[in-house]
Amino acid sequence: RVKDKGSNHYSLYAPAMNMKGIERLQLENGLRHALEREEFVLYYQPRINMQSGQIIGMEALLRWNHPELGLVPPGAFIPIAEETGLIVPIGDWVLRTALHQNKAWQDAGYPMMTVAVNLSPRQFLRQGLVESIAKELRETGLHPSFLELEITESLTMHDVEYTIRTLDELSKMGVQISIDDFGTGYSSLNYLKHFPVSTLKIDQSFVRELIGDPYNAAIVTTVIHLAQSLQMKVIAEGVETEEQFVYLRDHRCDEMQGFLFSRPIPADQYEELLRGNVMFEVS
Ligand code: C2E
Ligand code: MG
Ligand code: MG
Ligand code: MG
Repeated sequence: RVKDKGSNHYSLYAPAMNMKGIERLQLENGLRHALEREEFVLYYQPRINMQSGQIIGMEALLRWNHPELGLVPPGAFIPIAEETGLIVPIGDWVLRTALHQNKAWQDAGYPMMTVAVNLSPRQFLRQGLVESIAKELRETGLHPSFLELEITESLTMHDVEYTIRTLDELSKMGVQISIDDFGTGYSSLNYLKHFPVSTLKIDQSFVRELIGDPYNAAIVTTVIHLAQSLQMKVIAEGVETEEQFVYLRDHRCDEMQGFLFSRPIPADQYEELLRGNVMFEVS
């Protein structure tokens, strides 16, 4: 924001106040009230076991139902929430909602599933993270092993000791940790040795170009082998085509997530999917 020195007026010539600046301001102001106005909603995308075709879990993905703009995708507001710190209360809401939902589905007799929740760096670095997760788990009564936290490689560029200590505490509680968008960060592989990571999620940019691009195919198979040698699970994100599915299954990728099986959907639709006991055709 460009201000005249010493005055409260925005400069007439401020280049920042273009459409983009105004839209960003509108989003930022709206974000401040979105929680109390109950404008957030969680969508769920199923995770499929590639060998059995069964749904074994889901990722909770945040959507903002903006009164004027409609459904805003997370890419448009998570960065603003990060910058403003609003991600902390929003993230608490996401965690609580996802845990409650998973517990409700378990209580209703659906097969036990893991729910994966994304944690942005700012959420991860906040004070009292472990305590707040422990509290939410206690209050919902969900067993910690049915919660998976998705972090990104960028965390390895912050306080490594804090990261190891925090991940160790979460892992001792029984919570699973996965590395999201694996392969897109600028980190060394060495951290995998020190972090109690149970799952690698191959970034969708590699999966998208998997077929017919030997370079991306090599990256994908290398990540699968890496996960296997380190005794981790490996998930492919963004699987959209039959060809991608067959390739990944034949190369022993454990799980997949992608539009080929289902887009992220609201809880009631997800439950329909569960009720229908839909299985992905793997043969
Ligand atoms: P992500 O965690 O890597 O989530 C996967 C994204 O890929 C989701 O986008 C999902 O809709 C999309 N996707 C899944 N399958 C396919 C496919 O087959 N094709 C294509 N083209 N896309 C697919 P979405 O929901 O827009 O979320 C974008 C990002 O926003 C997420 O990436 C995550 O980093 C962030 N995010 C979403 N919800 C939360 C949240 O509750 N907290 C935080 N901190 N970040 C979140
Ligand atoms: Mg994710
Ligand atoms: Mg991802
Ligand atoms: Mg992502």
